[in-house]
Amino acid sequence: MHSLEQLQYSNSFGCLPEDFHGRLQPTPLLAAHMASFNAAAAALIDLDPGDAGRAEFVDYLNGSRPLPGADPIAMLYAGHQFGHYVEQLGDGRAIILGEVLNRRGERWELQLKGAGPTPYSRRGDGRAVLRSTVREYLGSEAMHGLGIPTTRALCMLGSEEEVYREQIEAGALLLRMAPSHVRFGSFEVFFYRGQHGRLRQLADYVIEHHYPEFREREDRYLAFYREVVARTARLVAQWQLVGFAHGVMNTDNMSILGLTLDYGPFGFLDDYQPGFICNHSDHHGRYAFDRQPDIGLWNVSCLAQALLPLLHPEPDAAVELARAGFDLYQEQFRQAHDQGMAAKLGLRETMPNDAALAQGWLDLLAANHCDHTNSFRALADFDDPGCPLRDSFVDRAAFDTWAQDYHRRLAQEGMDGSERRARMQAVNPKYILRNYLAEQAIRAAQGGDYREIDRLLALLQRPFDEQPEMAAYAAPPPDWGRRLEVSCSS
Ligand code: AMP
Ligand code: MG
Repeated sequence: MHSLEQLQYSNSFGCLPEDFHGRLQPTPLLAAHMASFNAAAAALIDLDPGDAGRAEFVDYLNGSRPLPGADPIAMLYAGHQFGHYVEQLGDGRAIILGEVLNRRGERWELQLKGAGPTPYSRRGDGRAVLRSTVREYLGSEAMHGLGIPTTRALCMLGSEEEVYREQIEAGALLLRMAPSHVRFGSFEVFFYRGQHGRLRQLADYVIEHHYPEFREREDRYLAFYREVVARTARLVAQWQLVGFAHGVMNTDNMSILGLTLDYGPFGFLDDYQPGFICNHSDHHGRYAFDRQPDIGLWNVSCLAQALLPLLHPEPDAAVELARAGFDLYQEQFRQAHDQGMAAKLGLRETMPNDAALAQGWLDLLAANHCDHTNSFRALADFDDPGCPLRDSFVDRAAFDTWAQDYHRRLAQEGMDGSERRARMQAVNPKYILRNYLAEQAIRAAQGGDYREIDRLLALLQRPFDEQPEMAAYAAPPPDWGRRLEVSCSS
């Protein structure tokens, strides 16, 4: 176990040519202090969790003391935002401090979010407000707890820095970690500038460090493309299964490693509403919950476009290979979704009518405004006379009809009831980061009390465990909690 300054930093992305990034130092926040620290993430980089209590630790992250060995950079990228290509984005408020190789040989890039302006800030201030920092900190760790690939969060700092949004808010800082923060948009920027040499260098870099299994292959760019496609499809399938809406699936927010990346106005479903729009600024519902699978494919097509020069020297052949990737996306999505849904329903095998059975269940949830998470969780006990599930349906007769089909289908598997129950509870979480729970933690934090953040962090790291003393956190939102609006402003 090491202290922050004892860790060995390298910065492989920083070793790429100058036009891939900008070098800079973080701009310290006023009166920065530790708000919450995540020991689980610290373990990933062999960091001593006791280190977080030192004043120097905060100073290093806040940039008021240079971190020995770190070589901070901001990354260049572009991307399609709400369907339109924006030719220069880049890390406007994120700074990579460096990367740490842990004792298992895993590479973790340490990135500050909210540490002040960068060469890519455009008109922004490079800051992140406390409310959005709490949301990303808890959101990413909740996703990890659910077993969904995501960036991680080591800690967050609060401060007395005044940040101007719709009103004055407190600035905060998130230290997030991922093996790489490269995005689809990192490739797009070089493709649209016609810099195909740079494009190849970036692909070589990502393959070398993150897809070494393809390094020696003649068709490595194709293999890499297909693997990103497959990971993206499986990721979106996991989002759908757990009821996670990302909110801003722009190509600059799509990870080249298939991680959930850039938590903005995201939201978990309370009631099952397929058309749920979590981002208040998304007027046309481009990123509505039920559009995510299609948008994932649309984003993959943007990546494919940018990779065309690498896929094949003949343009027509390259397009064919890119297109085959779209079929792969559909296949991988369908397979991951069907298998995941079968597991949620407690089925070991998949049978031809299962899709209709699952759809029937989802239709019931939608028609009866049932809570997505709690209904799946309670389904394990659906035939127990004391189970409250049936009462949550306004149309009980419709539920009973569906339950008879479901009962027959379960009987075909012949799985022991208690085994089925245990398997279902291992895939249907009891706890998710409901918007109102995040909001309660935010309001307390704005008053200087960070304990609710720690409580939620601990809860959401074990979302499948009963944790009976925390049962109140499984409750659907109170009225005020249903009407919360979350926008891109963060
Ligand atoms: P997002 O929608 O948060 O993924 O951000 C889109 C782009 O705007 C990215 O290039 C961000 O780095 C940049 N950006 C967002 N907020 C700020 C800010 N406060 N200051 C500078 N750049 C920002
Ligand atoms: Mg972003």
